[in-house]
Amino acid sequence: MTAALSQPPTIMPNPAGASPALAQWFAAKAAHPDALIFFRMGDFYELFFGDAEAAAAALAIALTARGSHDGAPVPMCGVPVASAESYLARLIRAGFRVAIAEQMEDPRAKRGAKTPIDRAVVRLVTPGTLLEEGLLDATRPNRLLALAAGDETRDDVQVGAAWLDISTGDFRTSAVPSADLPALLAALDPAEILAAPGIALGDWAARRAPEDAAPPPPAAARGAIAASFAVASLDAFGHFSDLEAMAAALALAYVRRTQAGALPHLAPPAPQGQRGTMLIDAATRASLEILRARDGGTKHTLFAAVQRTATAAGGRLLAEWLAAPLTDAAAIIARQESWAWLLATPRLAEHLRGAIRGAPDLARALARLSLGRAAPRDLAAVRDALAAARAAATLLDEAGRDGEAATPPPLLEAVRAALRPAPDLAARLAQALAESLPARLEEGGVIAPGFDAALDEARRLRDETRQVIAALQHDLATRYGVSGLKIRHHAQLGYVIEVAAAAVAKLTDHPDLIMRQGMANGARFTSSELADLDRRITEAAARAMARERELFAALVAETCQIAEALAACAGALARLDVLLGAAALAAGGGWCRPVIREDSAFRVTAGRHPVVEAALAGKARFVPNDCDLSPERRVLLLTGPNMAGKSTYLRQNALAAILAQAGLPVPAASAEIGIVDKLFSRVGGADDLARGQSTFMVEMTETAAILRQAGPHSLIVIDEIGRGTATLDGLAIAWAVLEALHTEIRARCIFATHFHELARLTAELPRLSPHTMRVVEHKGSVVFLHEVIAGVAGRSWGVHVARLAGVPASVVRRAGDVLAALERRAAGLTTDAELPLFAAAENAKAETAHPPPPLSPVLSALTAIDPDQLSPKEALETLYRMREILADAALSEGI
Ligand code: ATP
Repeated sequence: MTAALSQPPTIMPNPAGASPALAQWFAAKAAHPDALIFFRMGDFYELFFGDAEAAAAALAIALTARGSHDGAPVPMCGVPVASAESYLARLIRAGFRVAIAEQMEDPRAKRGAKTPIDRAVVRLVTPGTLLEEGLLDATRPNRLLALAAGDETRDDVQVGAAWLDISTGDFRTSAVPSADLPALLAALDPAEILAAPGIALGDWAARRAPEDAAPPPPAAARGAIAASFAVASLDAFGHFSDLEAMAAALALAYVRRTQAGALPHLAPPAPQGQRGTMLIDAATRASLEILRARDGGTKHTLFAAVQRTATAAGGRLLAEWLAAPLTDAAAIIARQESWAWLLATPRLAEHLRGAIRGAPDLARALARLSLGRAAPRDLAAVRDALAAARAAATLLDEAGRDGEAATPPPLLEAVRAALRPAPDLAARLAQALAESLPARLEEGGVIAPGFDAALDEARRLRDETRQVIAALQHDLATRYGVSGLKIRHHAQLGYVIEVAAAAVAKLTDHPDLIMRQGMANGARFTSSELADLDRRITEAAARAMARERELFAALVAETCQIAEALAACAGALARLDVLLGAAALAAGGGWCRPVIREDSAFRVTAGRHPVVEAALAGKARFVPNDCDLSPERRVLLLTGPNMAGKSTYLRQNALAAILAQAGLPVPAASAEIGIVDKLFSRVGGADDLARGQSTFMVEMTETAAILRQAGPHSLIVIDEIGRGTATLDGLAIAWAVLEALHTEIRARCIFATHFHELARLTAELPRLSPHTMRVVEHKGSVVFLHEVIAGVAGRSWGVHVARLAGVPASVVRRAGDVLAALERRAAGLTTDAELPLFAAAENAKAETAHPPPPLSPVLSALTAIDPDQLSPKEALETLYRMREILADAALSEGI
């Protein structure tokens, strides 16, 4: 999450009496009071007053002063224009917004003038409207989200949402009940949010833009959007609710404002209403570490474990697929068919990978081109991306012809159709652009020789005059008899003849020459011949530059004219990349194509957790586990000690649902997944003490969210409900929640608990299937086999885990003794069919009066065994365990 919005200090000096340049600064500041003003002065962006103080502190650069205002020095700091991007990036990351005030006139033309150079704010740089490569994360979308709330007096308040990424042109809308807003925010992870103060943003409040975010009324909103896309009515783009249209218009107006009136190339807004996605709330996303790990990094995430993409745009699309798994079976199957086809045509897939590997980021280059902020490398990116796309299209054309497979499935056909958007442009760019390009157009050499006759002519003149200088220098040296004579360029004097001190006398009285400067070791002369040369060179260079600019602008315009087709091509390249990545993942072995069903099936055979498996690589083998949540056994109750692999098992099944519905391969031998509409995962640290909430409060809030939102098509994985409170309380709550999930909500659920007593509910809850993590004892220590088996954990093994964790031996021993005694005592009480914990409370009084004779621990252990359920190995282990209990009993006399 980015830092909270930083604001420049609000105390502003009085603008009265400001110098003309400072008056411009005050005007810019008044128009953008929430932003730092980057005020262009020559080769620097200068910051003044409070802006300077804030920026100097944030960037750790020197704070100085310049001139004075109102009788006091003006605090100032500055950053060089050439490296402004990196400073901007740091300020934006620190939560600032920056308004860039450029010089709107050529300073040379204004030399000597009385008025200051005209300046204007040409751009407001905000977290949600970034375009520069250096400011963006290449593998993540950068979204601006606008929200419009409905009638807040109604219960079912709707919120209209419109989000766009101006760095790629992606633009979508949706309307959700306000209760689903947190999940939408979690799915979109917007960089900046426009929302009226009445709309609560929860954890995302820090990303609220400080603008007045009142959306226009519906009719005006529809009109504004239609005008932006030059259509008569929005109907062409799909059905928009009023709230969606209002949010979309709000977003567009804001983008215009930040780009000084211009609008970048944007795809028409696409309403998401029809295209359903799995609802995954923020807590679930955090728990499953889909795109970001709990430590804030990206290394140990689902994304990192499945990413096999070759381009930045492919990486972004994969992140999008994982963040928003689909609920439409046909759309999921279309993705599956495509990668399965590529998997079946390995040679073609390999060639396709080769074709698109390293393809430049077409979508982001296009965004900069459409806003007139393009560098030569952005056009080169279009050229190279088009070449890669064409190569891929040709390979797909040939598919089937080489006998490997028949024609590609529909999704890949659509990709192929979009990969050749503009043969003419591709050819022209290939011809027009030089092989190696400068970073900036001003450096020249962008257009290749041979592309334009007028440019070639101007360049020839410019370059020839350089040769002319060499010839003239030789000529003059002979003419004046000074072999060391040099023609040099001087900043003020232009071209001059330079000779050493010994030769000065030979030239001093020459009528053609004027001595301009004496130096300690020689002198400088000018002549009309040199002045003429100077003029010719300058003119030719200027002509070449002007022509180059013209050609560049024409190429940019030509590119922008077909921006829509190019954007579609960029999308197709990204899709192909993700599909090839999925095929590569599946080709590695151990990944399956899940069967997608419309019912509520859930069967995973030999499933694995891709992230834990990757972390174990080389150190240990990951033990695969089955999971069956079929309707007749849809609630799996999982008991077992800590560290045995419960959390891993819970998460891996939730991740299987995400991967399956993202249309990607699943790490399992086979899987059948009935579409999950909402996914809830409450596994792992839920502590939120930073927000002043107790662990238990957070746990209960999250449990409440599940109970209120989940339904029969949901999947819930939930760990250790009730751990944060007293045992009886906790058990009672876990009990009630389990009953509600089983009988009322009827969701598929894996419920992990350390309350083994809950297994007793099997008798009353027919769809509850108790499972446990298999653990064996070996020579007095516990071995976790990470295997999920039917049954209930016999004991907790907490003392053994304490030993593993390094708790001192004396404490572990003592805990072991106490446990043995407690177990013996409990064993004496559990002969009754009652629950031990509830029974314990009632029996406590009786116990003090007439302590019941304790049942032998071995006998009570024997009664707890169902011999028909034991494998031969388990039977042997049980025998060993009984011997141990006998040995323990002998040792712990007297407790
Ligand atoms: P706790 O209740 O303390 O959180 P847990 O029972 O949930 O423990 P996990 O965190 O899932 O245990 O797993 C503990 C460690 O065991 C993992 O970090 C991993 O190294 C290993 N592990 C878990 N599952 C498997 C598996 N199926 N195969 C191999 N190793 C596993």
